[in-house]
Amino acid sequence: MAKRDYYEVLGVEKSADQEAIKRAYRKLAVKYHPDRNPGDKEAEEKFREATEAYEVLSDDKKRPLYDQYGFAGVDGMDQGGGGAQYSHAFHDFSDLFGGAGGGFSDIFDSIFGGGFGGSSSRGGARSSGPAAGASLRYDLHIQFKDAVYGTNADIHFKHNEACSICKGSGAAPGASKKTCPTCNGMGQVRQGNGFFTIQQTCPKCRGKGLVVDKPCASCRGSGIQEKSKAMSLKIPAGVDDGKRIVIRGQGDAGENGGPAGDLVVVLHVEQHPNFERDGNDLYCAVPISMAQAALGCEISIISLDGKRVTIKVPDGTPNGKLLRIKGEGVPVANSSRKGDLYVKVMVQIPSRLSVRQKELLKQYMELENPPAEPQLMALSKLGD
Ligand SMILES: [Zn+2]
Ligand SMILES: [Zn+2]
Repeated sequence: MAKRDYYEVLGVEKSADQEAIKRAYRKLAVKYHPDRNPGDKEAEEKFREATEAYEVLSDDKKRPLYDQYGFAGVDGMDQGGGGAQYSHAFHDFSDLFGGAGGGFSDIFDSIFGGGFGGSSSRGGARSSGPAAGASLRYDLHIQFKDAVYGTNADIHFKHNEACSICKGSGAAPGASKKTCPTCNGMGQVRQGNGFFTIQQTCPKCRGKGLVVDKPCASCRGSGIQEKSKAMSLKIPAGVDDGKRIVIRGQGDAGENGGPAGDLVVVLHVEQHPNFERDGNDLYCAVPISMAQAALGCEISIISLDGKRVTIKVPDGTPNGKLLRIKGEGVPVANSSRKGDLYVKVMVQIPSRLSVRQKELLKQYMELENPPAEPQLMALSKLGD
C-alpha cells in the first residue's frame, strides 16, 4: 500500500507550526488509540500511521529532510523497525497532554512494551497500580469585551470516565480476575529469537499480570467510557489572550484508583473593531476637525462598556496626540484598580470646502501670514 503524505495523514497545512501538529496528532491518537478500539485493525493502522507522521513532523531535523526529499529523506533514520518508532512519541506524551504524565503514557507503555522505550522501560512485572488520568486541553474563544469585564462561558467537552457498568474494573458483573495464563502473572513475556531474547510487555494482560474471565460488555474490558460533559465556566474580568484556566479533575479518569487529569481551558480573545488592548490599558482613535484641534473642544465617545464618555481636547492639540482617560481601561485581576483608556486624536484636513469655508480659510491664511521661506528640519527630529 502506498504511504500517505505525513501532512495529509495529520490533516495539517505544510506551514503548520508545532502546536498545530501536536494538536492534530493528539486528536488522532485519542480517536484511534488501540486501547479504545480493541481488535480494530484499521484503527490500529491509522494510529500507527499518525504516530509515524507525528514523529517526523515534530522533529526539527527530520521535518526539513522530509519536506525536501519526501519519505526517502527520513527512511531508516534511527527507526529500529517494529514498535521502536513509537518510543519518541511516547516520550512526548505527557507534554502533549499537558499533564504530569501518567495515564496515557502508562497505556502506551503497556501496549507497546516498556522495553521499546528506552528510559520508559520499567522492567519486571508491572503491577496494576494507580495511574493518573490524562489532562485535556480545551480552546475557548471569547469576545474582547468579555475578556475585559468577565463572563460565564458554557463549555462542552468529552472526557473518559470510569465505565459506569463495571466501575472501571473492565470485568463483567460476576467475573473474576485471574492470574494471566500467558505470562503467569509476570506482566512480561520473553520471546526467543535465535541467540537472543527480547522481554516484552505481555500482550494478553498488557502488563497487568491479571486477566478477567469475562470482560465488561459495555466498555469491552477497557474500564473506561467516553462521556460528554457541559459546564459553565466563570471567566474573571481582565483575562488576557493565552490565559489558562485549570479545572481540576475534569480530564480523563485515572486508572486503578489513580486521580483524574485536569481540564486545561486556554483562552483565545477575539479582536474588537474599535478597541485594542495593551495589558490593562485600552486604545482607540477618534477623528477631529482641524478647527476643533486648534480651538479645543469636547468630544463624546462610547467606551467599551457602552458608557458615554466626554473627552476634553485642549486647544492647540497636535495630530496623533494620545489623550488619557483615567480608569476607563481593563480591570486589574483580583483588585479594584483599572487601567486607562487612551484616545488618539486624528486631525482631519478637509478635502472639500464650501465657498464660504474657502473664503474664511483664505482670510485666516492672510492673518497667519506664513513665512516666504519655510524652515526645514530633519525627519528624525520630528516627533510622533
Ligand atoms: Zn465496563
Ligand atoms: Zn500476561
